[in-house]
Amino acid sequence: MSQQTATRPGLADPRLREEILYYCRESVRCGLNFNTQGNISVRLPGVLDGEDAVVITPSDVRYDAMHPEDMLVVDMHGTVLEGDLLPSTELPVHLEHYRRRPDAQAIVHTESTFVNVLGALGRRIDPVLLNMVLYAKGPVPIMPFEFSTNADFGRRSAELMGDDVNAVVWANHGLLAVGVSLKLAFKVAVAVEENAEVLFQAERAGTPTVLVYDQIAIPEGARLP
Ligand SMILES: [Zn+2]
Repeated sequence: MSQQTATRPGLADPRLREEILYYCRESVRCGLNFNTQGNISVRLPGVLDGEDAVVITPSDVRYDAMHPEDMLVVDMHGTVLEGDLLPSTELPVHLEHYRRRPDAQAIVHTESTFVNVLGALGRRIDPVLLNMVLYAKGPVPIMPFEFSTNADFGRRSAELMGDDVNAVVWANHGLLAVGVSLKLAFKVAVAVEENAEVLFQAERAGTPTVLVYDQIAIPEGARLP
């Protein structure tokens, strides 16, 4: 156990650590990740004398062998405050997305198949399903391929995602989804993958109808995410 762990105990609630582990395993069960792919983080608002911290999954640990205590807590500069393992290699990218989007309380990175089919083709993911347009909002843009482990990539990824869409595709790699909660960030990742598969199949048969978030008629009293 590190010295920092002893001086700053319990920045991440045990229930939150369990929730992150649950969604890690769900990501494999839902076909969003294979093996040790992907990662998840959650913002811890104001826990460091008013400054935010982030709890993130460790690098290179199989989800079926991961424990709640394996999660790491880091400050917004990436300094590890709790945990003995190495944080996900994409930590700098998560931090840049949190900086750009104050509304983002959680980030889910997945490497699902149909997101990667469209990503490898360089095709942005237009919404053709209600779930997609409700959770991810607009068309999901695509970053050209490059390694995704540095802050510069993260700044450009966050810039491309912008303020109104909740996901971005990294070509030849996967998806980064944000949400106002971990539950919602996960729903974004699920919705984009499902939409990517339907879009891909529908385009082989004809011209699918694309939904535009600002133009869909939302019934009075509808409960929106
Ligand atoms: Zn990845």
